[in-house]
Amino acid sequence: MMRSLFSVVFVCLFAFHLHAVEKEDGKLRIIVFGAHPDDAEYKAGGSAVKWAKQGHHVKLVSVTNGDIGHWKEAGGPLALRRAAEVTACAKKLGVTSQVLDIHDGELVPSLECRKLITRVIREWKADIVIAPRPWDYHPDHRYVGVLLQDAAFMVAVPFICPDVPPLKKNPVFLYSSDGFQKPYPFTPDIAVSVDDSFEQKLDGIHELTSSIMKAVPMARKSM
Ligand SMILES: [Zn+2]
Repeated sequence: MMRSLFSVVFVCLFAFHLHAVEKEDGKLRIIVFGAHPDDAEYKAGGSAVKWAKQGHHVKLVSVTNGDIGHWKEAGGPLALRRAAEVTACAKKLGVTSQVLDIHDGELVPSLECRKLITRVIREWKADIVIAPRPWDYHPDHRYVGVLLQDAAFMVAVPFICPDVPPLKKNPVFLYSSDGFQKPYPFTPDIAVSVDDSFEQKLDGIHELTSSIMKAVPMARKSM
């Protein structure tokens, strides 16, 4: 009995200590959203490496599970494969990853998804949130942008999703770059050179074999 009580106390103290470290380490908490298990890695992998090397905490999130993103595989096995790939990629980048279990190609800007995104941002205690603009040709990409816009205010509102504490201050929300010209071309406010992290980014990207080799004919990625 004593022993189990001691264990519980230790676990509680350890959890408290972890929480304290998380709150007080003075580092930024950055979360990058993409629609599929490769988008955030391609878009922000180089910056993520640089942040991680400075001790900042980075999470790359895929809002769908990518289960139709291959020319001959699909369903649960592909979703598991892609989740494993982004986990391996994140390890090489020095960051954390998360894949939300929403079917690829079926993301909609629903209230349920808005709450889900709100919770994910809160749970990460984000200082900086990065997401695509909502003007992509692909509905999943487009709706990630919409959902992030919709969640941007809600993360600090206490009585929505009360099961996860609201953020005390609203994070900085940034758009990731794109080539879309309408309705507005992307104009960068911040540009980060990734020359010194590019090799490590490529090393991580090489883990995304289902994405690199998938050969969906129209698929193209910008680095
Ligand atoms: Zn995508």
